[in-house]
Amino acid sequence: MSKKKIIYTRQEMFEFNRAILMKRGVTIEEIATICYQQQSKYNDNVTMGLCIESVEKILSLRDIFHHVQLACEIDRLAEAHAFEGPIQDIILEDLGLFGIDETMGLDVSGLYGTIGQTNFGDIDVNKRGIVKTLNDLGKEDDKCHTFLDDIVGAIAAAASTRVAQVLNEDLAHEVEGIERFSIFDL
Ligand code: MG
Repeated sequence: MSKKKIIYTRQEMFEFNRAILMKRGVTIEEIATICYQQQSKYNDNVTMGLCIESVEKILSLRDIFHHVQLACEIDRLAEAHAFEGPIQDIILEDLGLFGIDETMGLDVSGLYGTIGQTNFGDIDVNKRGIVKTLNDLGKEDDKCHTFLDDIVGAIAAAASTRVAQVLNEDLAHEVEGIERFSIFDL
């Protein structure tokens, strides 16, 4: 029996994530835009480049890889009516009291600190950018974005937190005048 591949490099994981998100209708730029809109309210130094870099970095992490791949597959399987029993329509219809999608989102959004979960709550409630688009499209027959909207919102929230952490680190170094060490890069 041939050995199955289950371990991937960060580059491979990033590319798998970018591809599956694209297949489900989401680009890195759309996620980064939510991040930019959220953080630019608090800091004038936020750039779209830093937001994109943050989203890309997050998409290369193993835990996030597992979350993104699983979330996208659950939605696809629900669209294909591949689940059996009550959970099929609970997921397909995006029942309001079904919270496992939000649990996954909370898990991902806390990556760079607790504030990420507050950011995630804001994106989840106010349905910003691509999250609103996904939410609206998900209401169409046989379209399911139950897990995808939360994962996308959570990545934006985590990226937003990373941006804040990077800018704070820069600020601290400005004050201290100490050279940065690569092991402390976020
Ligand atoms: Mg959802």
